[in-house]
Amino acid sequence: MVPLTIHQARWVVPVSGPVLDHGAVVVAGGRIVAVGPASRLRRYYQGKCYDHGDGAILPALVNAHVHLEFSALRGRIPRQSALGPWLRDAMAEFAQLSAAEINQGVQEGLAELRRFGTILVGEISNTGLSLPELSKSGLEFHYFYECLGFDHLNSGPLEDDFPIFASSEARARDNFSAAAHAPYSVSPALFGRIFDWNRGYRRRTTVHLAESREEVEFLSQGNGFFQHLLQQRGRWPAAYQPPQCSPVVYLDRLGGLGPQTLAVHVIWLSAFDLELLARRSAWAVLCPRSNQFTGTGFPRLPELYQAGVRLALGTDSLASNDDLNLFKEILTLQQQYPEFAPDKLLALATSQGALALGRGHDLGSLSPGKLAALLFIPIASDRHFWPDLLEAGAAGKISWVAASGAEGGYGN
Ligand SMILES: [Zn+2]
Repeated sequence: MVPLTIHQARWVVPVSGPVLDHGAVVVAGGRIVAVGPASRLRRYYQGKCYDHGDGAILPALVNAHVHLEFSALRGRIPRQSALGPWLRDAMAEFAQLSAAEINQGVQEGLAELRRFGTILVGEISNTGLSLPELSKSGLEFHYFYECLGFDHLNSGPLEDDFPIFASSEARARDNFSAAAHAPYSVSPALFGRIFDWNRGYRRRTTVHLAESREEVEFLSQGNGFFQHLLQQRGRWPAAYQPPQCSPVVYLDRLGGLGPQTLAVHVIWLSAFDLELLARRSAWAVLCPRSNQFTGTGFPRLPELYQAGVRLALGTDSLASNDDLNLFKEILTLQQQYPEFAPDKLLALATSQGALALGRGHDLGSLSPGKLAALLFIPIASDRHFWPDLLEAGAAGKISWVAASGAEGGYGN
């Protein structure tokens, strides 16, 4: 018989239900068996019991949008008041990195994700270098290999231009997808090829969408910052005609807006865009601190929520963020929208993120049958629960609860 372990603490935050006072989680074989009041579970289940004391047990976090391969750029790109200068700096600095530096950054990024309690990530890759590192990291992940090419006007299979999609790994892994960078860096033809590949293999997709005012202007008029950038880089197709619509409507016209779409940032939205995102059951992945860093604006969380748009949370990369701590994203949203319920904010970084990445069945909440990826955050028992939890998390006071013991990492 598989031995049972009981983890109890002053609080248990299942995310799938209300916070439990003096709660416990029963674990066996790396899976959650039961969640409930400690006194009842200890009567019902026989097993080794660990009392973690004053603090909360909660599910490990889901970062739905990160670029680990940019981790080596931490501290090398200044904060900006518009996306253009940030993008120029980031592209120039990334071009200077060697494969060894990129790999070193990936390792540091992975260590940081683990330290801040992340179990599942949506990784956006431009080189493929992070795939073997993620595969041996112990983290769960969805791999989005990102395609760019505003001057790609040809049709035909995606693998003709991006050979990684012909690899057995890309074809065999359910957690491997083709991603489009953004409407200003991917031609309509290339969008179509990306969507075709994903449809063929039944994979989700992601795209940076409606991130900046310049993107909105570019799609409506075909000029401005992005036209200059593309011309400078020799990637401007002379016959280009702007679609004269919003980024969200544009993606929908291309057939790319649906329940398998993770639209990242989505800051610049009309009322119609909000309604369309909700109607198509598309995911909006918010990265508020990255938006502040690149000067693009701030996510309109209450309006997105009210419109019924499905929401998840990401940090984006260390080229546009100081660290990979999701609790800081939650706090940043809370400071901007203090009336928004903290349990709903935590759900964005747990259960919602897991659903967005197709892992809702085994991650994102403390529910029987799910993987026992548990965190413990110490909280003084005589103070306010939610502010203390979020602040302790943001301060990095996060430890992993090993499935079979009191201390150590997930899976120990
Ligand atoms: Zn990004």
